[in-house]
Amino acid sequence: ILSLSAIAAFSLAAVGGYFLTDTAVKPIEEAFEKQQQFTADASHELRGPLTAIKASIDIMRRHPERFQEKDVRKVGAIANATAQMTRLVEDLLFLARTEKKTIKSNPEYIPISLNDLLQKLIDLLEPLAGEKNITLNYQAFDEVSVMGNPDQLTRLFSNLLYNALNYTSEKGLVLIRLIQHNRLVKVAVEDTGVGIAPEDVSHVFDRFWRADKSRHNSGGTGLGLSIAQAIAHSHQGKITVKSKLGIGTCFEVSLPILENK
Ligand code: ADP
Repeated sequence: ILSLSAIAAFSLAAVGGYFLTDTAVKPIEEAFEKQQQFTADASHELRGPLTAIKASIDIMRRHPERFQEKDVRKVGAIANATAQMTRLVEDLLFLARTEKKTIKSNPEYIPISLNDLLQKLIDLLEPLAGEKNITLNYQAFDEVSVMGNPDQLTRLFSNLLYNALNYTSEKGLVLIRLIQHNRLVKVAVEDTGVGIAPEDVSHVFDRFWRADKSRHNSGGTGLGLSIAQAIAHSHQGKITVKSKLGIGTCFEVSLPILENK
Protein backbone atom coordinates (compact mmCIF):
# COMPACT_ATOMS: atom_id res chain seq x y z
CA ILE A 1 0.00 0.00 0.00
CA LEU A 2 2.79 2.33 0.87
CA SER A 3 4.53 1.79 -2.45
CA LEU A 4 1.18 2.11 -4.23
CA SER A 5 0.60 5.46 -2.59
CA ALA A 6 4.04 6.60 -3.63
CA ILE A 7 3.48 5.42 -7.21
CA ALA A 8 0.04 7.07 -7.31
CA ALA A 9 1.52 10.32 -6.04
CA PHE A 10 4.36 10.09 -8.55
CA SER A 11 1.97 9.42 -11.47
CA LEU A 12 -0.27 12.33 -10.48
CA ALA A 13 2.76 14.55 -10.29
CA ALA A 14 3.94 13.38 -13.71
CA VAL A 15 0.52 14.01 -15.30
CA GLY A 16 0.29 17.42 -13.72
CA GLY A 17 3.75 18.28 -14.98
CA TYR A 18 5.20 18.98 -11.58
CA PHE A 19 6.99 16.90 -8.97
CA LEU A 20 5.67 16.13 -5.49
CA THR A 21 8.19 16.51 -2.72
CA ASP A 22 8.56 14.24 0.30
CA THR A 23 6.52 16.72 2.33
CA ALA A 24 3.58 16.31 -0.06
CA VAL A 25 3.72 12.49 -0.12
CA LYS A 26 4.04 12.14 3.67
CA PRO A 27 0.39 12.99 4.51
CA ILE A 28 -0.79 10.36 1.98
CA GLU A 29 1.48 7.76 3.58
CA GLU A 30 0.28 8.76 7.02
CA ALA A 31 -3.36 8.40 5.95
CA PHE A 32 -2.64 4.86 4.66
CA GLU A 33 -0.83 3.97 7.86
CA LYS A 34 -3.78 5.27 9.92
CA GLN A 35 -6.18 3.18 7.86
CA GLN A 36 -4.04 0.06 8.34
CA GLN A 37 -3.81 0.73 12.07
CA PHE A 38 -7.59 1.13 12.27
CA THR A 39 -8.16 -2.20 10.47
CA ALA A 40 -5.65 -3.92 12.76
CA ASP A 41 -7.20 -2.41 15.91
CA ALA A 42 -10.80 -3.11 14.85
CA SER A 43 -10.02 -6.75 13.95
CA HIS A 44 -8.15 -7.20 17.20
CA GLU A 45 -11.07 -5.77 19.22
CA LEU A 46 -13.56 -8.06 17.43
CA ARG A 47 -11.67 -11.16 18.56
CA GLY A 48 -12.85 -10.74 22.17
CA PRO A 49 -16.63 -10.81 21.56
CA LEU A 50 -16.19 -13.60 19.01
CA THR A 51 -14.41 -15.73 21.61
CA ALA A 52 -17.31 -15.08 24.01
CA ILE A 53 -19.88 -16.16 21.37
CA LYS A 54 -17.85 -19.33 20.66
CA ALA A 55 -17.72 -20.14 24.37
CA SER A 56 -21.54 -19.84 24.62
CA ILE A 57 -21.99 -22.06 21.56
CA ASP A 58 -19.70 -24.69 23.12
CA ILE A 59 -21.77 -24.69 26.32
CA MET A 60 -25.03 -25.14 24.37
CA ARG A 61 -23.49 -28.01 22.41
CA ARG A 62 -22.13 -29.74 25.49
CA HIS A 63 -25.34 -29.34 27.53
CA PRO A 64 -28.29 -29.49 25.11
CA GLU A 65 -30.55 -30.65 27.99
CA ARG A 66 -30.35 -27.19 29.57
CA PHE A 67 -31.91 -25.50 26.52
CA GLN A 68 -35.09 -25.76 24.48
CA GLU A 69 -34.77 -28.06 21.44
CA LYS A 70 -35.56 -25.32 18.89
CA ASP A 71 -32.77 -23.14 20.31
CA VAL A 72 -30.22 -25.97 20.14
CA ARG A 73 -31.15 -26.53 16.46
CA LYS A 74 -30.29 -22.93 15.67
CA VAL A 75 -26.83 -23.31 17.16
CA GLY A 76 -25.40 -24.98 14.02
CA ALA A 77 -26.19 -21.90 11.92
CA ILE A 78 -24.82 -19.56 14.58
CA ALA A 79 -21.65 -21.66 14.83
CA ASN A 80 -21.13 -21.51 11.04
CA ALA A 81 -21.65 -17.76 10.91
CA THR A 82 -19.28 -17.31 13.86
CA ALA A 83 -16.62 -19.47 12.20
CA GLN A 84 -16.94 -17.44 8.97
CA MET A 85 -16.65 -14.18 10.90
CA THR A 86 -13.64 -15.49 12.84
CA ARG A 87 -11.89 -16.34 9.55
CA LEU A 88 -12.68 -12.86 8.26
CA VAL A 89 -11.38 -11.11 11.38
CA GLU A 90 -8.20 -13.23 11.45
CA ASP A 91 -7.58 -12.58 7.73
CA LEU A 92 -8.13 -8.82 8.16
CA LEU A 93 -5.77 -8.71 11.11
CA PHE A 94 -3.16 -10.76 9.26
CA LEU A 95 -3.46 -8.51 6.19
CA ALA A 96 -3.14 -5.30 8.19
CA ARG A 97 -0.10 -6.62 10.08
CA THR A 98 1.60 -7.91 6.91
CA GLU A 99 1.04 -4.65 5.03
CA LYS A 100 2.47 -2.71 7.96
CA LYS A 101 5.63 -4.83 7.83
CA THR A 102 6.44 -3.59 4.31
CA ILE A 103 7.32 -0.24 5.83
CA LYS A 104 9.54 -1.65 8.53
CA SER A 105 12.51 -4.01 8.40
CA ASN A 106 11.93 -7.69 9.07
CA PRO A 107 14.58 -8.84 11.52
CA GLU A 108 12.80 -12.15 12.08
CA TYR A 109 13.43 -13.36 8.51
CA ILE A 110 15.40 -16.59 8.23
CA PRO A 111 16.82 -18.63 5.29
CA ILE A 112 14.13 -20.95 3.91
CA SER A 113 14.41 -23.76 1.39
CA LEU A 114 11.52 -23.12 -0.99
CA ASN A 115 11.67 -26.71 -2.24
CA ASP A 116 11.09 -28.09 1.26
CA LEU A 117 8.33 -25.60 1.98
CA LEU A 118 6.49 -26.36 -1.28
CA GLN A 119 6.96 -30.12 -0.96
CA LYS A 120 5.47 -30.08 2.56
CA LEU A 121 2.48 -28.09 1.35
CA ILE A 122 1.92 -30.38 -1.60
CA ASP A 123 2.05 -33.47 0.65
CA LEU A 124 -0.57 -31.82 2.83
CA LEU A 125 -2.84 -31.04 -0.12
CA GLU A 126 -2.52 -34.39 -1.92
CA PRO A 127 -5.61 -35.88 -0.17
CA LEU A 128 -7.71 -32.83 -1.13
CA ALA A 129 -6.55 -33.11 -4.75
CA GLY A 130 -7.24 -36.86 -4.65
CA GLU A 131 -10.86 -36.23 -3.60
CA LYS A 132 -11.40 -34.34 -6.88
CA ASN A 133 -9.15 -36.58 -8.95
CA ILE A 134 -6.91 -33.61 -9.63
CA THR A 135 -3.27 -34.30 -10.48
CA LEU A 136 -0.89 -32.19 -8.39
CA ASN A 137 2.42 -32.02 -10.20
CA TYR A 138 5.52 -30.39 -8.74
CA GLN A 139 8.54 -29.61 -10.92
CA ALA A 140 11.64 -28.14 -9.34
CA PHE A 141 14.99 -28.16 -11.10
CA ASP A 142 16.98 -26.11 -8.62
CA GLU A 143 17.55 -26.08 -4.88
CA VAL A 144 16.68 -22.50 -3.98
CA SER A 145 16.57 -20.62 -0.68
CA VAL A 146 15.07 -17.25 0.13
CA MET A 147 15.09 -15.02 3.21
CA GLY A 148 11.66 -14.88 4.75
CA ASN A 149 9.06 -15.72 7.31
CA PRO A 150 8.21 -19.44 6.90
CA ASP A 151 4.62 -19.09 8.17
CA GLN A 152 3.89 -16.21 5.84
CA LEU A 153 5.44 -17.89 2.80
CA THR A 154 3.51 -21.08 3.59
CA ARG A 155 0.35 -19.01 3.75
CA LEU A 156 1.11 -17.31 0.43
CA PHE A 157 1.55 -20.59 -1.45
CA SER A 158 -1.24 -22.40 0.37
CA ASN A 159 -3.67 -19.63 -0.63
CA LEU A 160 -2.65 -20.06 -4.27
CA LEU A 161 -2.77 -23.86 -4.12
CA TYR A 162 -6.14 -23.97 -2.32
CA ASN A 163 -7.59 -21.64 -4.95
CA ALA A 164 -6.12 -23.71 -7.78
CA LEU A 165 -7.76 -26.83 -6.33
CA ASN A 166 -10.97 -25.01 -5.50
CA TYR A 167 -11.47 -23.46 -8.96
CA THR A 168 -10.45 -26.57 -10.92
CA SER A 169 -12.98 -29.27 -11.60
CA GLU A 170 -12.67 -33.07 -11.42
CA LYS A 171 -9.73 -34.69 -13.25
CA GLY A 172 -7.98 -31.37 -13.78
CA LEU A 173 -4.30 -30.57 -13.40
CA VAL A 174 -2.47 -28.25 -10.99
CA LEU A 175 1.16 -27.74 -11.93
CA ILE A 176 3.64 -26.08 -9.58
CA ARG A 177 6.97 -25.07 -11.11
CA LEU A 178 9.99 -23.59 -9.41
CA ILE A 179 12.33 -21.81 -11.79
CA GLN A 180 15.53 -19.90 -10.99
CA HIS A 181 15.91 -16.81 -13.08
CA ASN A 182 19.04 -14.72 -12.47
CA ARG A 183 18.71 -13.49 -8.89
CA LEU A 184 15.03 -14.35 -8.67
CA VAL A 185 13.13 -17.51 -8.02
CA LYS A 186 9.79 -17.85 -9.75
CA VAL A 187 7.11 -20.15 -8.47
CA ALA A 188 4.28 -20.70 -10.93
CA VAL A 189 0.99 -22.25 -9.83
CA GLU A 190 -0.93 -23.18 -12.95
CA ASP A 191 -4.33 -24.84 -13.14
CA THR A 192 -6.74 -26.13 -15.76
CA GLY A 193 -9.70 -24.59 -13.93
CA VAL A 194 -12.56 -22.19 -14.62
CA GLY A 195 -10.25 -19.27 -15.47
CA ILE A 196 -10.89 -15.56 -14.95
CA ALA A 197 -12.55 -13.21 -17.48
CA PRO A 198 -10.18 -10.62 -19.06
CA GLU A 199 -12.13 -7.73 -17.51
CA ASP A 200 -11.82 -9.32 -14.06
CA VAL A 201 -8.11 -10.20 -14.01
CA SER A 202 -7.03 -6.76 -12.77
CA HIS A 203 -9.38 -7.08 -9.75
CA VAL A 204 -8.26 -10.43 -8.33
CA PHE A 205 -5.92 -8.87 -5.76
CA ASP A 206 -8.55 -6.38 -4.54
CA ARG A 207 -9.87 -6.94 -1.05
CA PHE A 208 -13.14 -8.90 -0.93
CA TRP A 209 -13.28 -9.19 -4.72
CA ARG A 210 -14.78 -12.37 -6.17
CA ALA A 211 -15.60 -13.25 -9.77
CA ASP A 212 -18.86 -14.88 -8.77
CA LYS A 213 -20.76 -12.82 -6.23
CA SER A 214 -22.99 -15.81 -5.43
CA ARG A 215 -19.91 -17.47 -3.94
CA HIS A 216 -20.07 -15.12 -0.97
CA ASN A 217 -21.12 -17.98 1.27
CA SER A 218 -18.49 -20.40 -0.01
CA GLY A 219 -16.42 -20.18 3.17
CA GLY A 220 -13.58 -18.11 1.69
CA THR A 221 -13.17 -14.52 2.79
CA GLY A 222 -12.24 -12.93 -0.54
CA LEU A 223 -9.00 -11.81 1.13
CA GLY A 224 -6.80 -14.78 0.15
CA LEU A 225 -5.14 -13.13 -2.84
CA SER A 226 -4.81 -9.73 -1.10
CA ILE A 227 -2.95 -11.57 1.65
CA ALA A 228 -0.80 -13.47 -0.88
CA GLN A 229 0.11 -10.17 -2.55
CA ALA A 230 0.90 -8.43 0.75
CA ILE A 231 3.21 -11.32 1.73
CA ALA A 232 4.98 -11.27 -1.66
CA HIS A 233 5.51 -7.50 -1.34
CA SER A 234 6.78 -7.76 2.24
CA HIS A 235 9.40 -10.22 0.92
CA GLN A 236 10.49 -7.75 -1.78
CA GLY A 237 8.75 -9.96 -4.31
CA LYS A 238 5.79 -9.70 -6.62
CA ILE A 239 2.86 -11.75 -7.77
CA THR A 240 1.27 -11.73 -11.22
CA VAL A 241 -1.59 -13.56 -12.87
CA LYS A 242 -2.46 -14.74 -16.37
CA SER A 243 -5.75 -16.41 -17.10
CA LYS A 244 -8.05 -17.61 -19.87
CA LEU A 245 -11.71 -18.10 -19.12
CA GLY A 246 -12.62 -21.78 -19.34
CA ILE A 247 -8.99 -22.80 -19.91
CA GLY A 248 -7.11 -22.08 -16.69
CA THR A 249 -5.10 -19.68 -14.57
CA CYS A 250 -1.44 -19.20 -13.75
CA PHE A 251 -0.22 -17.22 -10.72
CA GLU A 252 3.49 -16.46 -10.64
CA VAL A 253 5.39 -15.38 -7.53
CA SER A 254 8.92 -13.94 -7.87
CA LEU A 255 11.17 -13.63 -4.83
CA PRO A 256 14.80 -12.56 -4.47
CA ILE A 257 17.10 -15.56 -4.05
CA LEU A 258 19.26 -15.84 -0.96
CA GLU A 259 22.84 -15.75 -2.31
CA ASN A 260 25.62 -17.96 -0.78
CA LYS A 261 23.16 -20.20 1.00
P1 ADP B 1 -11.74 -16.41 -2.17
O1 ADP B 1 -11.09 -17.60 -2.85
O2 ADP B 1 -11.87 -16.54 -0.69
O3 ADP B 1 -13.02 -15.99 -2.82
P2 ADP B 1 -9.37 -14.96 -3.07
O4 ADP B 1 -8.87 -13.60 -2.74
O5 ADP B 1 -8.45 -16.10 -2.78
O6 ADP B 1 -10.76 -15.14 -2.33
O7 ADP B 1 -9.75 -14.99 -4.60
C1 ADP B 1 -10.55 -13.94 -5.13
C2 ADP B 1 -11.31 -14.44 -6.35
O8 ADP B 1 -10.39 -14.67 -7.45
C3 ADP B 1 -12.03 -15.77 -6.17
O9 ADP B 1 -13.31 -15.59 -5.57
C4 ADP B 1 -12.15 -16.26 -7.62
O10 ADP B 1 -13.24 -15.62 -8.26
C5 ADP B 1 -10.86 -15.73 -8.25
N1 ADP B 1 -9.80 -16.78 -8.28
C6 ADP B 1 -8.75 -16.90 -7.41
N2 ADP B 1 -7.96 -17.93 -7.77
C7 ADP B 1 -8.51 -18.47 -8.88
C8 ADP B 1 -8.14 -19.56 -9.75
N3 ADP B 1 -7.05 -20.30 -9.52
N4 ADP B 1 -8.95 -19.81 -10.82
C9 ADP B 1 -10.04 -19.05 -11.06
N5 ADP B 1 -10.43 -18.01 -10.30
C10 ADP B 1 -9.68 -17.72 -9.22
